[in-house]
Amino acid sequence: MRKPIIVGNWKMNKTIAEAVDFITAIEPVLHDNADFGVATSFLALNESIKHANKLIVAAENCHFAESGAYTGEVSIPMLKEIGLKWCIVGHSERRQMFGDTDETVNKKVKALIANGITPIMCCGESLETFEAGKTEEWVRGQIKAGLDGLDAEQVANMVIAYEPIWAIGTGKSATKEIAENTCKIVRDEVCRNFGKDAADRVRIQYGGSVKPENIADYMAMEDIDGALIGGASLKVDSFTAIINAVK
Ligand code: PGA
Repeated sequence: MRKPIIVGNWKMNKTIAEAVDFITAIEPVLHDNADFGVATSFLALNESIKHANKLIVAAENCHFAESGAYTGEVSIPMLKEIGLKWCIVGHSERRQMFGDTDETVNKKVKALIANGITPIMCCGESLETFEAGKTEEWVRGQIKAGLDGLDAEQVANMVIAYEPIWAIGTGKSATKEIAENTCKIVRDEVCRNFGKDAADRVRIQYGGSVKPENIADYMAMEDIDGALIGGASLKVDSFTAIINAVK
């Protein structure tokens, strides 16, 4: 049985004080039926980790190099020093606006795992790719490239988020059937490359306009083990409603 995992992706939202207030409010409503987390800005990570007890705290990105001339970047040793255990990698906003590629995503995934940090690796197609009927080919390519060089055990222990770009922040969520279908393709690609045990164990999230009203529909699907949630994770009320919906 895969334990569900629900993670809020705050993106470039919340100051340190706002993050701490949110975490303080959300801790008492967490329960053991699922893992819950939030991904915060680099700046809010340290205080967030200090205030979180059950709640997972994740970074939204990292650099793959240990150190060096990469102005404005944050390294994995820096994240390790503050006790960080989780990190989102390859979110479509980073791929579209900040130059992440399958190759750099793969380097980040490998470097995180080597340092004991669990990656939440994102994949997902554009509207153009979706409308051209090329989602399967696209997502299989992202999974194969992003996980290249890992072993089955490493893949089994990580999280993959399928987020169709056309559903992110648009209010236009994928139907549960579309989400399930692509999450099944992701699992099958893991199976092809790493075997059945890794495919059975890896947790796959759906992301894209998930909210209190639709979370239960996604969670009922066989290959969807959780959600990566942007907008609806920013308010204590809506995140609480999501937490309660997976009780
Ligand atoms: P959204 O964002 O829930 O606001 O669509 C999801 C994400 O980008 O992770």
